[in-house]
Amino acid sequence: MPYVLAIDAGTTSCRTLLFDEKLQVAGLAQEEFRQYFPQPGWVEHDAEEIFETQYRTLLKVLDKTSVPLEEIVAAGITNQRETVVIWNRHSGKPIYPAIVWQDKRTESACKHLRQEHPGIRQKTGLVVDAYFSATKINWILEHVPGARDAADSGDLLCGTIDTWLIWKLTAGAVHATDHSNASRTMLYDLQATGWDPELLGLFGIPAAMMPEIRDSDGFFGNIVLGENKIPIRGVAGDQQAALYGQGCHSAGQAKNTYGTGCFLLLHIGEQAHITDNGLLTTVAWKLDGTISYALEGSVFQAGSVIQWLRDGLGLLESAEESAKMAAALSDNGGVYLVPAFTGLGAPYWDPDARGMICGLTRGTDRRHVVRAALESIAYQSADILRTMEAAAGIPLSELRTDGGATGNNWLMQFQSDIIQKPVLIAGIQESTALGAAMLATRHDNAFQQTRSAHQRVCKPVMSASDSTSLYAGWLAAVKRASS
Ligand code: ADP
Repeated sequence: MPYVLAIDAGTTSCRTLLFDEKLQVAGLAQEEFRQYFPQPGWVEHDAEEIFETQYRTLLKVLDKTSVPLEEIVAAGITNQRETVVIWNRHSGKPIYPAIVWQDKRTESACKHLRQEHPGIRQKTGLVVDAYFSATKINWILEHVPGARDAADSGDLLCGTIDTWLIWKLTAGAVHATDHSNASRTMLYDLQATGWDPELLGLFGIPAAMMPEIRDSDGFFGNIVLGENKIPIRGVAGDQQAALYGQGCHSAGQAKNTYGTGCFLLLHIGEQAHITDNGLLTTVAWKLDGTISYALEGSVFQAGSVIQWLRDGLGLLESAEESAKMAAALSDNGGVYLVPAFTGLGAPYWDPDARGMICGLTRGTDRRHVVRAALESIAYQSADILRTMEAAAGIPLSELRTDGGATGNNWLMQFQSDIIQKPVLIAGIQESTALGAAMLATRHDNAFQQTRSAHQRVCKPVMSASDSTSLYAGWLAAVKRASS
């Protein structure tokens, strides 16, 4: 029976999953690795430690499942995006710790770039931010003694975590990335679908350092395990892999991951629309030479609002309790909670807005506040989906969901009511790894490619007019919370 490995290199842990031909999970191993915070705003990883941790989980899953190596016909890689590693091509040693996507050390450089180079947004689809790889690579070349000279003489290689793992797993044979990861570097031209010489020049990055960009379902070399070789046949960044794993393979399909925050991606087809409201345009994947794009937006405060009710206000014992409390009320009593703890993101972009609970009456009790918090997760997601639909001119057919908070049935039903579209809830929490496994076996008929990852569907039961008036109440509350 054929199997496929999914190598999932996350921000705090590495996981390796083994999927069978029906794309069911046959085994999983996971291990956390260290986070380094050398200065305020800085976040680093040890790239060697990431590889070793990842490799241990790979061996562990093989050991646990006892599947013969010759039955593992392919491997897919999915990874935390934007984080960069620079290493010496001869020694294989990183010259500096990996600078993680969360790292803000290049923020002031980005502020300057935003003013001086407005064209970057149009070319890359990204908002100029320290988040993306380009300024991090530049920082290492500028600050590590000898790095600039070594780069100029062709001794250094650079990559995101996918590239680093591919290089290590193939014993230095392949230095490559895929289009989805490349599009997060701020060095990639969305239209030309390649590294942009002008941007490489602007950030002082020699082209020879950069990995070759391959299709997301391309061949990325072999993982050599003793006598056996496992070909790496699929690579995508984590959010794009989740979009693929959720089966959002055509324009108009979207997924939302409900965790601490929410990550929304809408597949927009083969044309890259750049929006003027701060949503990111990104490559979803390139398959068999055909590129697909996605709009990406995030809700900063989602599950974290429930954590705040539990830990900050003491209104809840557990996150799970929130569903029952919300369901105990027949309506929201006019209470709205705007969780603008750190300002408002897309589509409002108001960094000075602050959180607010409004509509309180003498009849309000803690259940109203809990319900308002859950509702806010759905309203914020609806805000982004509406903005995406309008920007792309593509109506959304349904919303596919995953992540920890999808365990809340009340929230999922409310989400469906507010967007007035079906919400399909993943039965598997591993959409990201599933996406990597699906990409890696796309061309292999032995694997089922139509596996429905969805366990439950919520269809709208609320009338359109009730939904519209609730949403209008949210928009009014947001206005009051604005600066
Ligand atoms: P992350 O990957 O961001 O750590 P998870 O996918 O593990 O997040 O989801 C955890 C988040 O989801 C927490 O913020 C938690 O408050 C929220 N959450 C978990 N279960 C529920 C629930 N039943 N109702 C509402 N929120 C929940």
